[in-house]
Amino acid sequence: MNLENIAAISTAMSPAGVAVIRLSGDSPLKIAEKMFKPSGKTVVENFTAGQMYPGEILADDFTDFGFCVYFKGPKSFTGEDVVEFHSHGGLAICQGVLKKALSLGARLATKGEFTKRAFLNGKLSLASCEGLIDMINSESVSGVRAGYALYREKLTGQVSSMQNELLDAIAEINADIDFPEEDLEAVSRERVRQAVINVINKVDKLISTFRQGRILKNGVKVGIVGKPNVGKSSLLNALLDYDKAIVSDVAGTTRDIVEGSIDINGVRFNFFDTAGIRDSNDKIESLGVDLSKKIVSGCDLLIFILGGGDITKEDNAVYEFIKDFNHIVILNKMDKGDFFDARADIKISALTKKNIDELKAMMYDKAVGVTDLNADFLCEERHLFALKQTKEKLLSALQGINDLPLDLLSIDLTAGWNALGEITGVTATEEIINNIFSKFCVGK
Ligand code: GDP
Repeated sequence: MNLENIAAISTAMSPAGVAVIRLSGDSPLKIAEKMFKPSGKTVVENFTAGQMYPGEILADDFTDFGFCVYFKGPKSFTGEDVVEFHSHGGLAICQGVLKKALSLGARLATKGEFTKRAFLNGKLSLASCEGLIDMINSESVSGVRAGYALYREKLTGQVSSMQNELLDAIAEINADIDFPEEDLEAVSRERVRQAVINVINKVDKLISTFRQGRILKNGVKVGIVGKPNVGKSSLLNALLDYDKAIVSDVAGTTRDIVEGSIDINGVRFNFFDTAGIRDSNDKIESLGVDLSKKIVSGCDLLIFILGGGDITKEDNAVYEFIKDFNHIVILNKMDKGDFFDARADIKISALTKKNIDELKAMMYDKAVGVTDLNADFLCEERHLFALKQTKEKLLSALQGINDLPLDLLSIDLTAGWNALGEITGVTATEEIINNIFSKFCVGK
């Protein structure tokens, strides 16, 4: 175990009321003794764990007044001894405090090193660490919830119980291999079959939550499509409630893909204003068209706009292109007249904002549906991959359940167990682990 003292600024690098400079290792208190002067009578070496002590934080070139907290390992975030200085949140202040800690022997922490240590010291599973980074990076309520469930080991609990079921099955097989004379093989095979089916069902159930989980974590990818001038930019503006997209009367001027986001019931909706799907000889337009098609196929929801008035061949062509994707058909410009089209799901006016709230509710229903946001969702691609691997191995075991030699059966089950272990980190390779922590910020 590496108990070198590491230090970093754990709060954001911008002026703020307070900042936290964190140290972890085998003797951070020794460093604190040299750079913190408590206001009260208790000297640093006698600090009670978990208690905040006011006093002077002594940087090299200045003194700040703040707090010092000591957490005694293993009852700390990293599982090691931890010290936090709560200084005022000026950039020069927290950098000065950090510099002082480094000059007293601490090493600057690398990205995610505090959390990596928590993982290596058995405080958090790998999935929990991923949940933590998801929470920190999330800008939506649903993303925070999805990350929190992962962080609090909900998935780990399910995965571990599946692993235990497989372990029992493996033990059953091993007992048969060790004592073949007892001739219980048929019974064992049946028990193993039941266990494998059971785990496959659980894996399937988790896999089936991924689409929703991904949406809750990353948001809904929405494409706004329609021929030029139907009001795509105007609708985007109406939805975003500010003038981000450029609105123009000249057909086909919205070439750039303009991004914007809104929250509907705590779920993030990210918009891509596409350049219009139509045939064109214009090179830049064509590029826009290509891009649109790519985006359209990657969207979770398409909003197809009919501009009111005459419906043309172009409208029909775009509709044909998008009709098999999850979509909403909008009849826009209702302020100009009461148009009708049998395909329309809702009539709006982007200009006067009529029915924009109704449209938002419809978007939520179409993309998220009736979902209990507190249920368990799979939201990491990596976990999905590991579960698919698990299923593959277990299906292979199931196929040979009647006639594969027992030791070969055990190999498939063990491979399934290993694949599950990648989620919690029990069997994750160094490369996977490093990759995950490289996505963290310094100080976490
Ligand atoms: P886009 O090419 O599809 O992005 O269309 P724009 O948003 O640029 O709109 C084209 C023109 O239609 C602009 O002059 C808008 O002001 C106008 N427009 C858009 N929505 C409405 C609407 O609901 N009512 C009316 N009367 N005009 C609209």
